[in-house]
Amino acid sequence: MTAQTLAEPIARLIAEFGKLPTIGPKTAQRLTYFLLRQSAEEAQSLAAAILDLKEKILTCNTCFNLGTHDPCHICTDPTRDRQRICVVEEPLDVLALERTGVYRGQYHVLHGSFSPMDGVLEDDLRIRELVRRVADEPPEEIIVATNATVEGEATANLLRSRLQSSGVQVTRLAQGLPIGSDLEYADDYTLSRALEGRRDY
Ligand SMILES: [Zn+2]
Repeated sequence: MTAQTLAEPIARLIAEFGKLPTIGPKTAQRLTYFLLRQSAEEAQSLAAAILDLKEKILTCNTCFNLGTHDPCHICTDPTRDRQRICVVEEPLDVLALERTGVYRGQYHVLHGSFSPMDGVLEDDLRIRELVRRVADEPPEEIIVATNATVEGEATANLLRSRLQSSGVQVTRLAQGLPIGSDLEYADDYTLSRALEGRRDY
């Protein structure tokens, strides 16, 4: 059956699912037909969860992590170490590091990695905000925890050069993260070891 012969609401939802990452046409169809079999309440609950996400989730204007408050619960937690800022690419990386329970400092989320080939330039990342943040309240250490990929490495180099004049110690997660890997997929043990074994950068 082609999209043209489908009832419009079905074709529309298949098209919407198809815009999501990792969802191919087959999966988009499967999800749509699965929802057709669900009760109206279940479909409403899913729709409400999607709307809630856009209405209630804010970006913290200090660390640029996502949450329900600005500043976020990590930035305002008085028990956390304010002398350390861990710089990550994505909000999911914060989750991965929090899961280890090893790190008790602050974060800074760049929202991407430096990749001019893909059109992601320095100004698309929250680097200027980090430099300003460090100038306003210099920490003892900035831990660069970008991914072990070509883009993550390029981002780390850029951060080092932008932070050089601040005089703050910049460290990088230890080797041990598989080359080419995203931080969010690293297991807790590997990530804890990488964090504990960080070195000057
Ligand atoms: Zn925050």
